[in-house]
Amino acid sequence: MNVQEAIVSLLQTVQEELQHIADSQGLEGVRLRMLGKKGELTALLRAMGQVPPEDRPAIGQMINEAREKAVALLDARGQWIAARERALALANERIDVTQPVPGPGLGALHPISLVLGEVLDVFTGMGFEVVEGPEVELDLFNFEMMNMPPNHPARDAQDTFYIEDKIVLRTHTSPVQARIMTTRKPPIRIVCPGRVYRADEVDATHSPVFHQLEGLVVGEDVTMADLKGTLDAFAQRLYGPDITTRFRPSFFPFTEPSAEVDLTCSACRGKGCRVCKGTGWIEVLGSGMVNPRVLDMCGIASDRYSGFAFGVGLERIAMLRYDIQDMRLLYEGDVRFLSQFR
Ligand SMILES: [Zn+2]
Repeated sequence: MNVQEAIVSLLQTVQEELQHIADSQGLEGVRLRMLGKKGELTALLRAMGQVPPEDRPAIGQMINEAREKAVALLDARGQWIAARERALALANERIDVTQPVPGPGLGALHPISLVLGEVLDVFTGMGFEVVEGPEVELDLFNFEMMNMPPNHPARDAQDTFYIEDKIVLRTHTSPVQARIMTTRKPPIRIVCPGRVYRADEVDATHSPVFHQLEGLVVGEDVTMADLKGTLDAFAQRLYGPDITTRFRPSFFPFTEPSAEVDLTCSACRGKGCRVCKGTGWIEVLGSGMVNPRVLDMCGIASDRYSGFAFGVGLERIAMLRYDIQDMRLLYEGDVRFLSQFR
């Protein structure tokens, strides 16, 4: 085979091979095989030494033309490949702007907020006004006007955090009652929800911060029957008409007489179960007739007016309502827990 034939067959091979090459890597392989240091065209150029001198210019020109042709073929294919690769990349990176987007996760009300909403619904439905007060409170309102003078033993049960000597984090929402009674004339009918504080260690049933709702009614001829009727209505609106209340004598410095109030267990409707430890009753509220001393200290004449008050822990209601075993779940902010209330 002479040089001319070799060149023709070589270019034909290049042309055929390129038709099957579809990426730049393959293209580079063909280029090296033809034009690289050990390429076939390069080999032909090297073989020039064996060509008779008189034929060298013609053959040399032939090889150079073949080389230019090969380069042109490679470039043409290279352009085709580049266009194809760009098109592929664009197709891969294509964004369908019409596709629906997964929305931001919907939030949910905290179980304490849910329970507070329900309880407030019940009391505002009975004509109670919702009143709030400061969490950083004067000792005067938190303790003294609630009939707990300095060194009164009842203060031990409500050990709290002191901001200063006479300023505390409130241990109950009762100081709001004092604030209202010192500024308004009866009749008074309020509920005070809010955050309260005690110097308690954290465990499954205790937290140094928790939530209470207290109610206060002051007027002429307000009796314990009114208290019982109000709490019966509260219990039945919250849990159903078959729920009753049970009053047990108790002691609070700010009420006299005082009573712990149990409700029929809403889990077993009084039959006895794990929740109520078999008794059929759940302890839910503290209550009593406002101690006349408290009324007098707040500037309300106890010989003319009487009143009742009650307090309920919102954590307690939430834990009963949603069968929550550990109070800490309410404060840890674990989304797996909270999203169940959506
Ligand atoms: Zn029960």
